[in-house]
Amino acid sequence: MTATAQPEAPHDLVGIGIGPANLSLAALAHGLPHANGTQPLSTAFYDQRRDFRWHPGLLIDGATLQVPFLADLVTLADPASPWSFLRWLRHKERLFPFYFAEKFHIQRAEYDAYCRWVAESLPGLHFGHHVDAVRWNPERALFEVDFTQIDPDGEAEALGRTYTRNLALGIGTTPHIPEPLKPLADAPTVPVIHSATYLDHRTRILGADHITVIGSGQSGAEVFLDLLRARPAGRERLTWLARTPAFAPMEYSKLGLEHFTPDYTRYFHALPEHVRDHLVPAQWQLHKGIDTDTIAAIHEELYRRTLHGGWPDVVLTPGVTVRTAGRIATTKIELHLEHVQQGTRSRLTTDAVVLATGHRERPLTGLLAGLDPYLRKDATGRPRIDADYRMLLDRTITATGCHIYVQNGERHTHGVGAPDLGLAAWRSARILNTLTGTNPYPLPERTAFTTFGLETREQPRPHTAGELLPLVEHP
Ligand SMILES: Cc1cc2nc3c(=O)[nH]c(=O)nc-3n(C[C@H](O)[C@H](O)[C@H](O)COP(=O)(O)OP(=O)(O)OC[C@H]3O[C@@H](n4cnc5c(N)ncnc54)[C@H](O)[C@@H]3O)c2cc1C
Repeated sequence: MTATAQPEAPHDLVGIGIGPANLSLAALAHGLPHANGTQPLSTAFYDQRRDFRWHPGLLIDGATLQVPFLADLVTLADPASPWSFLRWLRHKERLFPFYFAEKFHIQRAEYDAYCRWVAESLPGLHFGHHVDAVRWNPERALFEVDFTQIDPDGEAEALGRTYTRNLALGIGTTPHIPEPLKPLADAPTVPVIHSATYLDHRTRILGADHITVIGSGQSGAEVFLDLLRARPAGRERLTWLARTPAFAPMEYSKLGLEHFTPDYTRYFHALPEHVRDHLVPAQWQLHKGIDTDTIAAIHEELYRRTLHGGWPDVVLTPGVTVRTAGRIATTKIELHLEHVQQGTRSRLTTDAVVLATGHRERPLTGLLAGLDPYLRKDATGRPRIDADYRMLLDRTITATGCHIYVQNGERHTHGVGAPDLGLAAWRSARILNTLTGTNPYPLPERTAFTTFGLETREQPRPHTAGELLPLVEHP
C-alpha cells in the first residue's frame, strides 16, 4: 500500500459519505463563492462505495419513494438548480412522458438513477475512499481526515490525508438485526438475511419451501408483497410477523406531514432533552408505518387469490416478538415466538427468514474517536448539535471558526425529519448559509400551517380574534 500525496491547501468543506444527504450538500455547494467572494468554495466528498448506490438491495420493481419528487436533492432550497430531478429528466429527454404520467411519487430505482447522474456529473466527489479517522490539528487549526483508497476488488490500495476547516458527516445508517437473530444471520448455511440485501438473495429465498418475513415497516411490507406476487396461488407458504400491535399505516395526512417541516424541526430542537427522547418513539407512525398504497396492494393481491375459493397459504400476525431462534439440522430454522397481549408462546419452523428490522444511525464513535475530548455530549452521551446542524465542540476549536456539521445523525436533537428526503435540501442550504455566512440560499420564515407550541411572550399584547394568548399562571 502506498501513501498518496497530501494536498497542502485545506478545503473549506469535506463531506464524509455520499448518500442523498451529502450529495444534496455537494450539489448546492457546487459553484458557491467562498465567504471572501473571490474564490469558489473548496469542497471534497468521500464515500467508501465504488459508485453511488441508493439502498440497492431494496430497489424492488415498482417500489416508490415515500415523498414527492420535489424532495429531490435541491429543489426545496433552489428550484433553479442545475441538479434537480426535472433537469435530469430533461437531460434524459423524458420530460414529456413524465408530464403525462402525472406521477408525484417516482419509482425508487428512478430516484437512484437520478442521484447517480448528479454524483457522476459533480466534480470533487471521491468514491472508493473509506474515511478512517478524523482528528483536530491544533498547530494548523484544521481537521485532519485520514482515508483509505479502495481498489475495484475492495482491497486497500493507498492511504491518504486531507485537511479541512469544516466537515459534514453524512454517513447514514446500517441495517439493524435484533440480538436473538444475530447468530442465525451470521451463519452462511441458512438463508437468514436482512431486507437491506433482499434483491441479492431473492432467488435463493424464493427457492425455500416456507419463508418468514419479520418486521412491519415499509421494507417488510414491500418484501412480503414481492414474495407473495412471486408464489403460486394456494402454495404461497409465507408468514409475516410483526412486533407492533398492528400492520399500521404510515401517517400521511396533510397536517401530519407538517412534522417534516423546518418549523417542526425548530420547535423540536428547542424542547428539553428528556421530552425529545419521549417524543421520537411515540411518533413511530410518522416514519415507521406502512404506506397505505402498499397495504392496499397486499390486500388486493391476497383478495385476488381467494376469487376461485379457498384462502392463500399465508399467515400475517402482528403483536409477535421473536424471543430466540435456532437452526434445526443444517437448513431449517426454528423461531421461538411470544404474543405479548395474549400471553402465549409458540414455535415456528421455517426455511428462510427476511429480517425487515430496520436501520440505525451509523455510530460516529469510531470515526470521531480522535476528537472525543473536544465533543460536547448530552446526558446519554450523544453529541449535542445546535440548530444549524453543528456539533458542539470545545471552544479551542470553535474559536477558530471550524465546525462539524451532521446530516441524518441528529434525530435526537432535530426530530423525526432527520432522515427524511424532504428536508435534505433545506438542511443542506441551512448548512451552507451558516458555513459561508453569506446566505446564498434564502430560506422561508414559515413552512407549516400548524403553529407548534405556544408563543411565550413577556408582555401581553392586544390580540386578534382567535389568537392564542399565553396563559398567565398565578401562584
Ligand atoms: C430502503 C429505504 C428506503 C427509503 N425511502 C425513503 C423515502 O422514500 N423517503 C424518505 O424521506 N426517506 C427514505 N428513506 C430514509 C432516508 O432517506 C435514506 O436512508 C437515505 O439514504 C439517507 O441518506 P444519507 O445520505 O443520510 O445516508 P445513506 O444513504 O446511508 O448514505 C451514507 C453513505 O455514507 C457512506 N459511508 C459511511 N461511512 C463511511 C466512511 N467511514 N467513509 C466513507 N463513506 C462512508 C456509505 O457508504 C453510504 O454511501 C429510506 C431508507 C431506506 C433504508
